[in-house]
Amino acid sequence: MSEKKQKHVLGLSGGKDSAALAVYMRDNYPEIDIDYFFTDTGKELPEVYDFLNDLEAYLGKEILRIDEGKDFDYLLTNEFNDFLPSPQQRWCTIQMKLVPFEKWVQKFLDEGYEIISYVAIRADEPTREGYIPTHDFLKVKMPFAEDGLIKKNIEDILESSGLGLPKYYEWRSRSGCTFCFFQRKIEWVRLKERYPDLFEDAKRYEKQIGQTPSGKSYFWMGQDTPLETLEDPKRIQEIKDDHEKQMARYKKRMRRNSLIDIEVIDTKVMDEIYDQEEGGGACITCYK
Ligand code: SF4
Repeated sequence: MSEKKQKHVLGLSGGKDSAALAVYMRDNYPEIDIDYFFTDTGKELPEVYDFLNDLEAYLGKEILRIDEGKDFDYLLTNEFNDFLPSPQQRWCTIQMKLVPFEKWVQKFLDEGYEIISYVAIRADEPTREGYIPTHDFLKVKMPFAEDGLIKKNIEDILESSGLGLPKYYEWRSRSGCTFCFFQRKIEWVRLKERYPDLFEDAKRYEKQIGQTPSGKSYFWMGQDTPLETLEDPKRIQEIKDDHEKQMARYKKRMRRNSLIDIEVIDTKVMDEIYDQEEGGGACITCYK
């Protein structure tokens, strides 16, 4: 019986885990010829594109940028009737990440390939989080989980490769779209301060929503909380103060456990600071 030909693919989200996996595969499994890809929403952080360029140089291989040809503006207006995506309605991930991926691999499946997709799920997290294949010949492999690598190993891999963490870690905890609704209020404030133009761009979509006849009141930050509320310096200060309080609480908890005063970079532990599971509910396709 003839063996099916195989294609190996690895999706990069712009996040640290998938980047570390690419580095890990290049360094430990050089015999596997992997196609690296990035499903570009066109609304990613500038630091994500820089990081991907650096990674591409390290891998010595092109990271294929794939998209569906329908950008966010097109989808929002023409297919979703100005209905902003939200944690409950994540049409953005489906339309801008999963559908382009599935269309891209479909042509290989049609050519008779079996696809092996490498996903950066670690040994210290539930493996059920991996992408659920939609085709018999689309298989998922999780090398970190299989080889016993945990969170600490991921940062070590990136450090020792010379890539380090993506630069957005200076102010934000996850990759993904500039206007991602999974970011915390303090991250919105930082977006406004660091990239006022991108903040204004995000606000523009809310205006669009406000003009719809049905008067929908969902905004990026949630029900009845338009980004305009961040125009008020008092509100910004409240958010910053609250974040400081949460940080202090987290540091106290850490000191109790470790008995040493450790330096905390909030973007690395944002979910823990706010007592949430890793990812804060965001889709692994976007931030892993
Ligand atoms: S990063 Fe956020 S806004 Fe962008 S596709 Fe993912 S969930 Fe949607």
